[in-house]
Amino acid sequence: MELFAIFGDPVEHSRSPLMHNSVFKHLHYPACYTRVHLKEGSKLKETFFNLALSGANVTVPHKEDAFNACDEVRGFAKNIGVVNTLLNENGRLIGYNTDADGFMYAIEEFGHVENILLIGAGGTAKALASRFIQDNINVTVLNRSEKRLSYFKEIACLAFTWDDFEVKKYDLVVNTTSAGLKDEELPAPLEMIEDILNNTSFAADAIYGKLTPFLKLAKEKNITFKDGADMLLGQGVLANELFTKGDLTLKDIKTHMQKSFKL
Ligand code: NDP
Repeated sequence: MELFAIFGDPVEHSRSPLMHNSVFKHLHYPACYTRVHLKEGSKLKETFFNLALSGANVTVPHKEDAFNACDEVRGFAKNIGVVNTLLNENGRLIGYNTDADGFMYAIEEFGHVENILLIGAGGTAKALASRFIQDNINVTVLNRSEKRLSYFKEIACLAFTWDDFEVKKYDLVVNTTSAGLKDEELPAPLEMIEDILNNTSFAADAIYGKLTPFLKLAKEKNITFKDGADMLLGQGVLANELFTKGDLTLKDIKTHMQKSFKL
């Protein structure tokens, strides 16, 4: 029996155990997935090997520590220095990032998008912006403070704080901040969010399982919107494919993982 886990602080809220265990159980894959509340990111590698894990996911706030802990980082995670999926390959810690591709899957139903506004400049915004730029999508980033914007300017995004932002037309606006997660805050001042939503075709939030104040406003304006559930599903399906090393098909993983969202 293989053991997998999610590391985070907090981690009690995570739906990952339910998602992955649903796949393992229904597809008769001999594995079990649990939660590990990890306070210190520096202890990630030691804890991973002490628990004899075959693989793991990593959530807030340890994704950058996970990158630094890896013996080898593969694929898109190398571009952004952020790892959310770990594998134990013969005692070596291998890192991947499935968040950005998970989000690409989530927005497929919006069709072709050319101009995206990301609100927030944290780890999630970094992953999404780099992935969009790779697909030649124009990316604008809006954050409440200046300090994290330099990364985005370096990868050819337009990047602004609330002080110097001027709204343009967007195909899609995404809230990647944690405003609305545990509070009822908007990710920017009301007037600015109103202006943004009046100039966009679609809206999305990385937060899942609740209608955030940002999405509430999008709904009031009859804008097509979605929360972060499909992003969560997308990153989970891709992580499970890595965990099970091609033994299960993407289609089967998705079917059973999706069922766990109704539990
Ligand atoms: P980070 O801590 O890396 O970044 C948070 C960002 O939000 C920063 O830019 C910060 O601004 C901004 N911010 C925080 N609070 C506020 C506020 N009250 N008003 C305006 N801006 C604010 O977080 P992550 O990028 O890792 O995660 C962001 C969100 O995405 C979380 O809610 C997380 O749960 C969700 N998420 C969802 C996933 C899914 O699968 N659906 C996957 C990954 C994340 P500043 O720079 O000024 O501090």
